[in-house]
Parts: sequence; structure tokens; C-alpha cells
Amino acid sequence: MILKTHHDIHIDNTIIEICNECGKSVRFGTGLYVNRVVDLNDIVTKIEMGKPFPSGGYICINCDNKLHKECLRK
Ligand SMILES: [Zn+2]
Repeated sequence: MILKTHHDIHIDNTIIEICNECGKSVRFGTGLYVNRVVDLNDIVTKIEMGKPFPSGGYICINCDNKLHKECLRK
């Protein structure tokens, strides 16, 4: 896993095909394409939610499962 050491997030509404939780690509041809979940929140909302990769328009299945587990713990 590559950790970013600098912030280069551009604030616009371009939907990038990455998971907004882990930053992994969910493009066609990746293992995460089929089960990706569209995140319909706009980028400002995602920043407010503390998403690590707010420019990503999707959540991958791995992170979606994690989020559901956190919901169940409450
Ligand atoms: Zn993810």
C-alpha cells in the first residue's frame, strides 16, 4: 500500500473511479469493479464526513463491508 505524503486533492466535482475510503481504483478491469457501490454524496459532504479520498465517487466492497460492520456494532 502506498501512503500519500502530500495533499493534492483538487476540489471539484469530478467523479474519480476510486474508493473514497481506501483510495483503491474501482475501474473496469479491477477486481473491485463489479461490487463497487456508488456514493451519491457530493464532494463537500464527503470532506465533512472525513472521507480520506473525497474525490472518489465509489466505495469498494471491502470498505462497504467494514462500514456495515461498524453500523452493527452500535
Ligand atoms: Zn475501499
